[in-house]
Amino acid sequence: MRILLAEDEARIAADVTAALQAAGYLVETALDGEEAWFRGDTEDYDLVVLDLGLPRMDGLAVLKKWRATGRTMPVLVLTARGSWPERVEGIDAGADDYLPKPFRMEELLARVRAVIRRSTGHAGSVIEAGALALDPRQMRVTRNGIPVSLSPLEYRLLAYLMHHRGRVVPGPELLEHLYGGGEGHEVNALEAILARLRKKLGAAAVETRRGFGYSIAAEST
Ligand code: CA
Repeated sequence: MRILLAEDEARIAADVTAALQAAGYLVETALDGEEAWFRGDTEDYDLVVLDLGLPRMDGLAVLKKWRATGRTMPVLVLTARGSWPERVEGIDAGADDYLPKPFRMEELLARVRAVIRRSTGHAGSVIEAGALALDPRQMRVTRNGIPVSLSPLEYRLLAYLMHHRGRVVPGPELLEHLYGGGEGHEVNALEAILARLRKKLGAAAVETRRGFGYSIAAEST
């Protein structure tokens, strides 16, 4: 899962980035509103954490501009403490959730998980596909109830496929959500991670549909 963090306070940006990375997310940061808008306009993110008080273009304007041009990625806005009109305005402008500053990192992480879950059509906190269960709260994966130990990249790849179970995910999309944009990573890298995943989860756990992409097996394997 790939997250854009738009936050101009360096300290907060560093803390949130570290917490999100530790929770298994790929994080990219934008330090002002114009950069945030541009990245959100040109790249695909699973979630944007958007501070409303940003230099060069305020967060509300960024959000409105995205929504006006049909960008539908989930957005969690960070608002000033006690500023309820700002929160109302944020939600009306198309935010999916909000969090007043200062906040506890645990609450931010819980909201991030919930918004990503809802946006991909999952009601419960544990995502299941066949014999596999993924719990983003602990970055825990089990197969038939038995814990499986995964590397961060393996986990990130599996988490993306499981959130999008029932869909064939094209290779380039998977690469983008695994490594970010413009890194020149190849499908070969993907195949190497998939080979390791299949070794740990069973050969049929992830299906390769040549020319189309990858999907998680819905049946028990
Ligand atoms: Ca700010």
